[in-house]
Amino acid sequence: MSDRLFEAQQLSKSYGIADGQVDALKNVNFSIDKGKFVAITGPSGSGKSTLLSLMGMLARPTDGVLSFQGENIAHLDSEQIARLRNAEIGFVFQSFQLLDRTTAIENVELPLIYAKIPSKERCLRACEALTRVGLADRLDHYPAQLSGGEQQRVAIARAIVNKPSVILADEPTGALDTATGREILELLQDLNQQGTSVVVITHNPEIAEGAEQHMALVDGRIQTASTVKKTASAKPDQA
Ligand code: ADP
Repeated sequence: MSDRLFEAQQLSKSYGIADGQVDALKNVNFSIDKGKFVAITGPSGSGKSTLLSLMGMLARPTDGVLSFQGENIAHLDSEQIARLRNAEIGFVFQSFQLLDRTTAIENVELPLIYAKIPSKERCLRACEALTRVGLADRLDHYPAQLSGGEQQRVAIARAIVNKPSVILADEPTGALDTATGREILELLQDLNQQGTSVVVITHNPEIAEGAEQHMALVDGRIQTASTVKKTASAKPDQA
């Protein structure tokens, strides 16, 4: 099996608007290998969310090719895409996007309901995911009874409950204070160490600098792309 998670060739996305179109992504090329921690940065309107929505198969490219695990997404019908997305991709958003009238464990069970997992197993797996993010003692809390950091942990538990190959996170620390944001980042880094790929949109330079791969977008194009090799003991240059 290929080590490639995503591969984009001349990937473009335009939106039709009343008086023409917006070219949100313009002939973008990149590849992301499995297991990477990738940061996407860029000013507002540069195409970051558009890129993430294409990677998450929430939108289809206007032009070019996007492959996921070696398969051109354009060759899949909407049912196949929905199944692939539910099985392979976990989403985390700035605003958590939890269901308010639903407890932590029920929020986390949602993707398992879509995947038609029987209720007993659902409960076990949701409990396991919430334990993994440090919320074993908050299973029956409603979102309003949780802090922002805890709500984001529930959202991360929901993202990992299907054991996806990749977590796509859109400014996951954007609504949190610095200390809580750092804890959420550490959680994403831990999940990455345990084998889940992570792609994160961020304005936080600390996250971008710590990433193995960094794509900086400007006006729908990748302006700079850098990859850092992971080493067991990365030390600063002595020179
Ligand atoms: P970023 O995430 O970097 O802020 P976006 O991907 O949200 O950028 O947007 C890129 C460009 O595409 C912007 O000019 C934005 O206004 C436009 N855009 C995004 N979504 C839509 C849409 N659904 N319809 C029309 N234009 C859109």
